[in-house]
Amino acid sequence: MKACVFTLGCKMNEVESMSLMQGLEERGFEVTDVPEYADLYVLNTCAVTAEAERKSRQAVARLRKFNPLAPVIVCGCASEKDSAAFETREGVTFVSGAMGKNKLLDYIGERGRAHETESTFCEMPLPKRSKTRAYLRIQDGCNRFCSYCIIPYLRGRTRSRKAESILAEARAVSAAGAREIVLTGIDISSYRDGETQLGDLLLLLKDVPARIRLGSLEPCVITEAFLQKMQAAGNVCEHFHLSLQSGSGAVLKAMNRRYTREEYLNKCALIYRCFPSAAITTDIIVGYPAETEEDFLQSLSIVEEAGLARVHAFPFSPREGTNAAKLKDLPSAVKKERMERMLQAARRAEERYIEKFTGSEQIALFEEDGGYTSNYLRVSAVGAKEGSMYRVKLSERKNDAIRAEIIEEI
Ligand code: SF4
Repeated sequence: MKACVFTLGCKMNEVESMSLMQGLEERGFEVTDVPEYADLYVLNTCAVTAEAERKSRQAVARLRKFNPLAPVIVCGCASEKDSAAFETREGVTFVSGAMGKNKLLDYIGERGRAHETESTFCEMPLPKRSKTRAYLRIQDGCNRFCSYCIIPYLRGRTRSRKAESILAEARAVSAAGAREIVLTGIDISSYRDGETQLGDLLLLLKDVPARIRLGSLEPCVITEAFLQKMQAAGNVCEHFHLSLQSGSGAVLKAMNRRYTREEYLNKCALIYRCFPSAAITTDIIVGYPAETEEDFLQSLSIVEEAGLARVHAFPFSPREGTNAAKLKDLPSAVKKERMERMLQAARRAEERYIEKFTGSEQIALFEEDGGYTSNYLRVSAVGAKEGSMYRVKLSERKNDAIRAEIIEEI
């Protein structure tokens, strides 16, 4: 029996799909993540934008084209938001939503596994993973209720995985060959298992023989104490994906983002004081309903002022059910024009960042698609082998990677 797990959306979905694939394999299925002929389809959906939701609904018919007789099981955020939109589709036999992905494995065969609720973190099978980089779920849900975001309504309140379970998985994946472990979740900044917060968790992971990379962070987690714990751990990548969303204090307030422009800038300065070679990357929403030209200019200027290395910019897209969806949307021509300016600013920021390291020596871990340094510079080097780590010397940029010369294998 062959099962196909098809995934849309974020890294968290990808990790959960890898767990589902592992669970299906343990139940005797041959598994694939490529849409092709299969006896069973699992569709892991996304609702982050209206477009992602539409693609999720369309994916049911897309998968059934390969085998119209195979049942389709649907999970993920789009099915949590509107289960009827999937239940009524031909071929769909079960819809588990976002918070009950493990019910799906129960449905397929296993009995007696605890179900996830809004207040408990649910363990899933160890994900199938690539040899070099492993993604590790440490947290789920979110309590922040940013005005534009549907996730807290779909994934429930924040809940954290037990630290000893994280440590056990980290040891297992590194013993199986992973040399980088990425800690993922919806809001990992809110991680808390008893007295153990995110910084303490990093200290617990310090003896795992792999480097640790953090998923997206909220500015509130960046404190001197947290950065000192990162330094003490010694194996945490100097890469901070520090969510911004707008450079304007007024828009941040309207978004319910709970920090000011100045606070964000102070957090970046603090990071650079502790980690001078750090990469600070971010997300920015362009064209939020309350955003004036003046506000937008604040978003443009903070890119350079904060010393950002990379910016993922998105045009605002209203999500039904959120407070921001009730506001008057800006004309799409305004959003498009601002996006172009933001993308230019993002390109300049990345060039500045790369220039800073030209000629420097870095440690890069090579994966399927090239090497990555601790501070997330993408490098290419003649003779580098996947799964290996090298000290390299960086030269000029070629296409989307920086050319590097291998000095020695680590
Ligand atoms: S922090 Fe804000 S944007 Fe991120 S998941 Fe929570 S509500 Fe959504």
